[in-house]
Amino acid sequence: MSLDSLIANTIRPDVRSDKSYHVPDASGFVKLDAMENPYQLPEALRRELGNRLAEVALNRYPAAAYGPLKERIRAKLGVPAGYDVLLGNGSDELIAIMAATCAWQDRRAVMLAPVPAFVMFQRSAQVAGMDFVGVALKADLTLDLPAMLAAIEQHRPALIFLAYPNNPTGNLFDTADIEAILRAQGEHGLVVVDEAYEPFAQQSFMERLPEFANLIVMRTLSKLGLAGIRLGYMSAAPALLEQFEKVRPPYNINVMTQAAAEFALDHVEVLNEQARLLREQRTALAAALAAIPAVQVFPSAANFITIRVPDADSIHAKLVSRKILIKNLSKMHSVLTNCLRVTVSTPDENAAFLDALRASLADRS
Ligand SMILES: *Cc1c(COP(=O)(O)O)cnc(C)c1O
Repeated sequence: MSLDSLIANTIRPDVRSDKSYHVPDASGFVKLDAMENPYQLPEALRRELGNRLAEVALNRYPAAAYGPLKERIRAKLGVPAGYDVLLGNGSDELIAIMAATCAWQDRRAVMLAPVPAFVMFQRSAQVAGMDFVGVALKADLTLDLPAMLAAIEQHRPALIFLAYPNNPTGNLFDTADIEAILRAQGEHGLVVVDEAYEPFAQQSFMERLPEFANLIVMRTLSKLGLAGIRLGYMSAAPALLEQFEKVRPPYNINVMTQAAAEFALDHVEVLNEQARLLREQRTALAAALAAIPAVQVFPSAANFITIRVPDADSIHAKLVSRKILIKNLSKMHSVLTNCLRVTVSTPDENAAFLDALRASLADRS
Protein backbone atom coordinates (compact mmCIF):
# COMPACT_ATOMS: atom_id res chain seq x y z
CA MET A 1 0.00 0.00 0.00
CA SER A 2 1.34 3.41 -0.94
CA LEU A 3 1.31 5.94 1.85
CA ASP A 4 1.31 8.73 -0.76
CA SER A 5 -1.94 7.44 -2.25
CA LEU A 6 -3.41 6.95 1.19
CA ILE A 7 -2.65 10.58 2.06
CA ALA A 8 -3.91 11.81 -1.33
CA ASN A 9 -7.14 9.87 -0.83
CA THR A 10 -7.81 11.14 2.68
CA ILE A 11 -6.13 14.45 3.52
CA ARG A 12 -7.58 17.73 2.19
CA PRO A 13 -5.59 19.16 -0.73
CA ASP A 14 -5.21 22.57 0.95
CA VAL A 15 -3.77 20.90 4.05
CA ARG A 16 -1.45 18.71 1.99
CA SER A 17 0.02 21.73 0.22
CA ASP A 18 0.36 23.69 3.48
CA LYS A 19 3.52 24.17 5.48
CA SER A 20 3.27 23.66 9.23
CA TYR A 21 3.61 26.66 11.55
CA HIS A 22 7.34 27.24 11.93
CA VAL A 23 8.70 27.89 15.42
CA PRO A 24 12.47 28.53 15.31
CA ASP A 25 14.74 26.70 17.77
CA ALA A 26 15.74 29.32 20.32
CA SER A 27 18.22 27.45 22.50
CA GLY A 28 21.28 29.57 23.22
CA PHE A 29 19.56 32.73 21.98
CA VAL A 30 18.37 35.89 23.69
CA LYS A 31 14.76 35.14 22.81
CA LEU A 32 12.93 38.29 21.77
CA ASP A 33 10.68 36.90 19.04
CA ALA A 34 7.53 35.69 20.78
CA MET A 35 6.30 38.43 23.15
CA GLU A 36 7.01 36.37 26.25
CA ASN A 37 7.23 38.05 29.64
CA PRO A 38 10.90 37.58 30.68
CA TYR A 39 10.02 37.39 34.38
CA GLN A 40 9.00 34.32 36.36
CA LEU A 41 6.91 34.32 39.50
CA PRO A 42 9.04 35.05 42.60
CA GLU A 43 10.70 31.98 44.16
CA ALA A 44 8.39 31.86 47.20
CA LEU A 45 5.27 31.91 45.03
CA ARG A 46 6.69 29.24 42.76
CA ARG A 47 7.21 26.93 45.73
CA GLU A 48 3.68 27.59 46.92
CA LEU A 49 2.39 26.87 43.43
CA GLY A 50 4.38 23.63 43.43
CA ASN A 51 2.62 22.54 46.59
CA ARG A 52 -0.72 23.51 45.12
CA LEU A 53 -0.09 21.55 41.93
CA ALA A 54 1.00 18.50 43.97
CA GLU A 55 -2.55 18.35 45.34
CA VAL A 56 -4.27 18.42 41.94
CA ALA A 57 -6.26 15.27 41.17
CA LEU A 58 -4.62 14.17 37.93
CA ASN A 59 -6.80 11.06 37.82
CA ARG A 60 -9.98 13.13 37.47
CA TYR A 61 -11.36 15.05 34.54
CA PRO A 62 -11.58 18.80 35.16
CA ALA A 63 -14.83 19.97 36.78
CA ALA A 64 -16.55 20.94 33.56
CA ALA A 65 -17.98 24.31 34.65
CA TYR A 66 -14.57 25.77 35.64
CA GLY A 67 -16.49 27.89 38.17
CA PRO A 68 -13.67 29.03 40.50
CA LEU A 69 -11.36 29.92 37.62
CA LYS A 70 -14.06 31.84 35.72
CA GLU A 71 -15.02 33.64 38.91
CA ARG A 72 -11.43 34.87 39.37
CA ILE A 73 -11.19 35.97 35.73
CA ARG A 74 -14.44 37.93 36.00
CA ALA A 75 -13.45 39.54 39.30
CA LYS A 76 -9.75 40.25 38.65
CA LEU A 77 -9.71 41.03 34.95
CA GLY A 78 -12.64 43.41 34.65
CA VAL A 79 -15.44 41.45 32.96
CA PRO A 80 -18.71 43.45 33.22
CA ALA A 81 -21.47 42.29 35.59
CA GLY A 82 -23.82 39.79 33.96
CA TYR A 83 -21.18 38.63 31.45
CA ASP A 84 -19.66 35.15 31.52
CA VAL A 85 -16.41 33.99 29.94
CA LEU A 86 -15.57 31.08 27.66
CA LEU A 87 -12.15 29.51 28.23
CA GLY A 88 -9.73 28.33 25.58
CA ASN A 89 -6.47 26.39 25.48
CA GLY A 90 -4.78 29.66 24.61
CA SER A 91 -6.70 32.25 22.64
CA ASP A 92 -5.51 30.35 19.58
CA GLU A 93 -8.12 27.73 20.43
CA LEU A 94 -10.79 30.39 20.87
CA ILE A 95 -10.07 31.71 17.37
CA ALA A 96 -10.43 28.17 16.02
CA ILE A 97 -13.69 27.66 17.96
CA MET A 98 -15.16 30.89 16.58
CA ALA A 99 -14.16 30.00 13.04
CA ALA A 100 -15.59 26.50 13.34
CA THR A 101 -18.84 27.86 14.77
CA CYS A 102 -19.30 30.40 11.97
CA ALA A 103 -18.19 28.20 9.04
CA TRP A 104 -21.49 27.20 7.46
CA GLN A 105 -21.69 23.85 5.66
CA ASP A 106 -23.84 24.91 2.69
CA ARG A 107 -22.30 28.29 1.83
CA ARG A 108 -18.94 29.98 2.22
CA ALA A 109 -18.74 32.20 5.27
CA VAL A 110 -16.21 35.02 5.39
CA MET A 111 -13.70 36.07 8.02
CA LEU A 112 -12.26 39.54 7.54
CA ALA A 113 -9.29 41.22 9.20
CA PRO A 114 -7.00 44.12 8.46
CA VAL A 115 -3.62 42.84 7.25
CA PRO A 116 -0.91 42.37 8.28
CA ALA A 117 -2.65 40.64 11.20
CA PHE A 118 -2.04 37.87 13.69
CA VAL A 119 -1.42 34.83 11.47
CA MET A 120 -3.74 32.49 13.37
CA PHE A 121 -6.81 34.40 12.12
CA GLN A 122 -6.27 33.39 8.51
CA ARG A 123 -5.04 29.90 9.40
CA SER A 124 -8.13 29.20 11.51
CA ALA A 125 -10.41 30.49 8.76
CA GLN A 126 -8.78 28.20 6.24
CA VAL A 127 -8.86 25.11 8.43
CA ALA A 128 -12.50 25.73 9.35
CA GLY A 129 -13.45 26.27 5.71
CA MET A 130 -14.15 30.00 5.84
CA ASP A 131 -12.96 32.44 3.16
CA PHE A 132 -10.47 34.93 4.50
CA VAL A 133 -10.54 38.54 3.29
CA GLY A 134 -7.61 40.76 4.29
CA VAL A 135 -7.87 44.56 4.02
CA ALA A 136 -4.47 46.25 3.86
CA LEU A 137 -3.51 48.72 6.55
CA LYS A 138 -2.36 52.15 5.42
CA ALA A 139 1.37 52.85 5.13
CA ASP A 140 1.36 54.39 8.63
CA LEU A 141 -0.15 51.08 9.88
CA THR A 142 -3.53 52.62 10.78
CA LEU A 143 -6.87 51.16 9.65
CA ASP A 144 -8.10 52.04 6.18
CA LEU A 145 -11.67 52.64 7.34
CA PRO A 146 -13.26 53.32 3.92
CA ALA A 147 -11.69 50.11 2.59
CA MET A 148 -12.86 48.18 5.67
CA LEU A 149 -16.43 49.49 5.28
CA ALA A 150 -16.44 48.70 1.55
CA ALA A 151 -15.21 45.15 2.25
CA ILE A 152 -17.92 44.69 4.90
CA GLU A 153 -20.56 45.80 2.40
CA GLN A 154 -19.19 43.52 -0.30
CA HIS A 155 -18.40 40.35 1.69
CA ARG A 156 -20.78 40.46 4.67
CA PRO A 157 -18.22 38.80 6.96
CA ALA A 158 -19.56 36.62 9.75
CA LEU A 159 -16.42 37.41 11.75
CA ILE A 160 -14.11 40.40 11.82
CA PHE A 161 -10.92 40.12 13.87
CA LEU A 162 -9.27 43.29 15.16
CA ALA A 163 -6.22 42.85 17.35
CA TYR A 164 -6.14 45.78 19.76
CA PRO A 165 -3.22 46.59 19.83
CA ASN A 166 -2.43 44.93 16.52
CA ASN A 167 0.19 42.22 16.15
CA PRO A 168 2.66 42.49 14.35
CA THR A 169 2.47 46.30 14.19
CA GLY A 170 1.99 47.19 17.88
CA ASN A 171 -0.38 50.12 17.39
CA LEU A 172 -3.89 50.62 18.76
CA PHE A 173 -6.49 51.21 16.07
CA ASP A 174 -8.63 54.33 16.42
CA THR A 175 -11.57 53.84 18.78
CA ALA A 176 -13.97 55.67 16.46
CA ASP A 177 -12.93 53.41 13.54
CA ILE A 178 -13.65 50.29 15.59
CA GLU A 179 -17.05 51.71 16.59
CA ALA A 180 -17.82 52.38 12.93
CA ILE A 181 -16.94 48.77 12.09
CA LEU A 182 -19.15 47.47 14.92
CA ARG A 183 -22.05 49.55 13.60
CA ALA A 184 -21.46 48.55 9.97
CA GLN A 185 -21.51 44.88 10.96
CA GLY A 186 -24.71 45.36 13.00
CA GLU A 187 -26.78 42.21 13.17
CA HIS A 188 -25.05 40.77 10.09
CA GLY A 189 -21.74 39.97 11.68
CA LEU A 190 -19.54 39.71 14.75
CA VAL A 191 -16.51 41.80 15.65
CA VAL A 192 -13.84 40.14 17.77
CA VAL A 193 -11.55 42.59 19.52
CA ASP A 194 -8.43 40.56 20.35
CA GLU A 195 -6.88 42.13 23.43
CA ALA A 196 -3.89 39.81 23.86
CA TYR A 197 -1.77 42.85 24.79
CA GLU A 198 -4.26 44.55 27.12
CA PRO A 199 -1.83 44.54 30.10
CA PHE A 200 0.50 46.76 28.06
CA ALA A 201 -2.13 48.90 26.33
CA GLN A 202 -4.39 49.47 29.34
CA GLN A 203 -7.20 50.25 26.94
CA SER A 204 -10.05 47.86 26.40
CA PHE A 205 -13.44 47.30 24.84
CA MET A 206 -14.41 44.91 27.64
CA GLU A 207 -16.55 47.46 29.51
CA ARG A 208 -18.35 48.27 26.25
CA LEU A 209 -19.84 44.80 25.80
CA PRO A 210 -23.29 45.99 26.96
CA GLU A 211 -23.24 48.65 24.23
CA PHE A 212 -22.64 46.32 21.26
CA ALA A 213 -24.47 42.98 20.99
CA ASN A 214 -22.13 41.90 18.17
CA LEU A 215 -18.92 42.57 20.13
CA ILE A 216 -16.71 39.75 21.39
CA VAL A 217 -13.70 40.61 23.54
CA MET A 218 -10.93 38.01 23.66
CA ARG A 219 -7.86 37.98 25.88
CA THR A 220 -5.12 35.64 27.03
CA LEU A 221 -2.86 35.16 30.03
CA SER A 222 0.06 34.42 27.66
CA LYS A 223 1.53 37.89 27.27
CA LEU A 224 0.89 38.69 30.94
CA GLY A 225 3.48 36.07 31.91
CA LEU A 226 1.78 32.67 31.62
CA ALA A 227 2.38 31.68 28.01
CA GLY A 228 3.30 28.16 29.11
CA ILE A 229 -0.02 27.29 30.74
CA ARG A 230 -2.10 28.12 27.62
CA LEU A 231 -5.18 29.98 28.84
CA GLY A 232 -7.32 32.37 26.83
CA TYR A 233 -10.78 33.71 27.57
CA MET A 234 -13.49 35.58 25.74
CA SER A 235 -16.65 37.37 26.72
CA ALA A 236 -19.75 38.40 24.80
CA ALA A 237 -23.53 38.63 25.20
CA PRO A 238 -24.59 35.47 27.11
CA ALA A 239 -26.86 34.16 24.33
CA LEU A 240 -24.00 34.45 21.86
CA LEU A 241 -21.42 32.88 24.17
CA GLU A 242 -23.77 29.92 24.62
CA GLN A 243 -23.48 29.10 20.92
CA PHE A 244 -19.68 29.00 20.97
CA GLU A 245 -19.81 26.99 24.20
CA LYS A 246 -21.42 24.14 22.20
CA VAL A 247 -18.32 23.89 20.00
CA ARG A 248 -15.76 24.11 22.83
CA PRO A 249 -14.31 20.67 23.70
CA PRO A 250 -15.70 19.97 27.20
CA TYR A 251 -12.36 19.45 29.01
CA ASN A 252 -10.20 21.81 26.97
CA ILE A 253 -8.61 23.42 30.04
CA ASN A 254 -6.55 20.83 31.91
CA VAL A 255 -6.43 20.60 35.70
CA MET A 256 -2.81 21.83 35.91
CA THR A 257 -3.62 24.94 33.90
CA GLN A 258 -6.76 25.48 35.93
CA ALA A 259 -4.87 25.27 39.25
CA ALA A 260 -1.94 27.38 38.04
CA ALA A 261 -4.22 30.09 36.65
CA GLU A 262 -6.32 30.24 39.82
CA PHE A 263 -3.13 30.60 41.85
CA ALA A 264 -1.66 33.25 39.54
CA LEU A 265 -4.87 35.28 39.57
CA ASP A 266 -4.87 35.20 43.36
CA HIS A 267 -1.52 36.99 43.03
CA VAL A 268 -2.41 39.03 39.98
CA GLU A 269 -0.71 42.12 41.47
CA VAL A 270 2.64 40.38 40.87
CA LEU A 271 1.85 39.97 37.16
CA ASN A 272 0.51 43.52 36.95
CA GLU A 273 3.74 44.85 38.44
CA GLN A 274 5.77 42.91 35.85
CA ALA A 275 3.60 44.44 33.11
CA ARG A 276 4.22 47.89 34.57
CA LEU A 277 7.98 47.30 34.48
CA LEU A 278 7.74 46.16 30.87
CA ARG A 279 5.75 49.28 29.94
CA GLU A 280 8.56 51.36 31.45
CA GLN A 281 11.15 49.37 29.55
CA ARG A 282 9.14 49.76 26.36
CA THR A 283 9.42 53.55 26.71
CA ALA A 284 13.17 53.31 27.31
CA LEU A 285 13.75 50.86 24.45
CA ALA A 286 11.66 52.92 22.01
CA ALA A 287 13.65 56.05 22.91
CA ALA A 288 16.98 54.24 22.48
CA LEU A 289 15.86 52.88 19.09
CA ALA A 290 14.63 56.29 17.96
CA ALA A 291 18.08 57.69 18.71
CA ILE A 292 19.63 55.40 16.08
CA PRO A 293 19.52 57.37 12.79
CA ALA A 294 19.01 54.33 10.51
CA VAL A 295 16.02 53.06 12.50
CA GLN A 296 12.37 54.08 12.17
CA VAL A 297 10.28 53.24 15.25
CA PHE A 298 6.52 52.66 15.04
CA PRO A 299 4.42 53.55 18.10
CA SER A 300 3.60 50.57 20.32
CA ALA A 301 0.98 49.89 22.97
CA ALA A 302 2.13 46.25 23.24
CA ASN A 303 5.14 44.45 24.76
CA PHE A 304 6.98 44.56 21.45
CA ILE A 305 8.24 47.25 19.13
CA THR A 306 8.14 47.24 15.34
CA ILE A 307 10.98 49.03 13.60
CA ARG A 308 12.10 49.65 10.05
CA VAL A 309 15.77 49.31 9.11
CA PRO A 310 17.61 49.79 5.80
CA ASP A 311 17.92 46.04 5.05
CA ALA A 312 15.86 43.82 7.35
CA ASP A 313 17.05 40.47 5.96
CA SER A 314 20.71 41.26 6.45
CA ILE A 315 20.20 42.89 9.88
CA HIS A 316 18.10 39.93 11.00
CA ALA A 317 20.80 37.48 9.87
CA LYS A 318 23.47 39.50 11.67
CA LEU A 319 21.42 39.55 14.86
CA VAL A 320 21.00 35.78 14.61
CA SER A 321 24.77 35.39 14.28
CA ARG A 322 25.04 37.45 17.48
CA LYS A 323 22.59 35.08 19.17
CA ILE A 324 19.69 37.57 19.26
CA LEU A 325 16.39 36.16 18.02
CA ILE A 326 13.75 38.67 16.85
CA LYS A 327 11.08 38.42 14.16
CA ASN A 328 11.71 39.43 10.56
CA LEU A 329 8.41 40.87 9.25
CA SER A 330 9.81 42.05 5.96
CA LYS A 331 8.21 39.40 3.74
CA MET A 332 4.90 39.31 5.60
CA HIS A 333 3.21 42.20 3.80
CA SER A 334 4.29 45.12 1.62
CA VAL A 335 3.50 47.69 4.34
CA LEU A 336 6.10 45.90 6.50
CA THR A 337 8.97 45.93 4.00
CA ASN A 338 12.25 46.03 5.95
CA CYS A 339 10.45 45.79 9.29
CA LEU A 340 11.54 43.81 12.34
CA ARG A 341 9.67 43.10 15.57
CA VAL A 342 11.39 42.88 18.92
CA THR A 343 9.85 41.82 22.22
CA VAL A 344 10.42 44.20 25.13
CA SER A 345 12.38 42.36 27.81
CA THR A 346 14.57 43.02 30.85
CA PRO A 347 16.96 46.02 30.81
CA ASP A 348 19.87 43.58 30.29
CA GLU A 349 18.31 41.77 27.32
CA ASN A 350 17.12 45.03 25.78
CA ALA A 351 20.68 46.39 26.07
CA ALA A 352 22.10 43.22 24.50
CA PHE A 353 19.67 43.65 21.60
CA LEU A 354 20.51 47.35 21.19
CA ASP A 355 24.27 46.64 21.19
CA ALA A 356 23.84 43.88 18.63
CA LEU A 357 21.58 46.04 16.47
CA ARG A 358 24.02 48.97 16.49
CA ALA A 359 26.90 46.63 15.62
CA SER A 360 24.87 44.98 12.86
CA LEU A 361 23.97 48.35 11.34
CA ALA A 362 27.62 49.46 11.52
CA ASP A 363 29.08 46.40 9.74
CA ARG A 364 26.93 46.74 6.63
CA SER A 365 29.25 45.37 4.00
C1 LIG B 1 -0.03 36.07 21.06
C2 LIG B 1 -1.34 36.39 20.47
C3 LIG B 1 -2.44 35.56 20.65
C4 LIG B 1 -2.31 34.12 21.10
O1 LIG B 1 -2.34 33.94 22.39
P1 LIG B 1 -2.39 32.50 23.08
O2 LIG B 1 -3.37 32.73 24.15
O3 LIG B 1 -1.00 32.28 23.56
O4 LIG B 1 -2.84 31.47 22.10
C5 LIG B 1 -3.69 35.97 20.18
N1 LIG B 1 -3.81 37.15 19.52
C6 LIG B 1 -2.75 37.95 19.31
C7 LIG B 1 -2.97 39.22 18.58
C8 LIG B 1 -1.49 37.60 19.76
O5 LIG B 1 -0.46 38.37 19.49
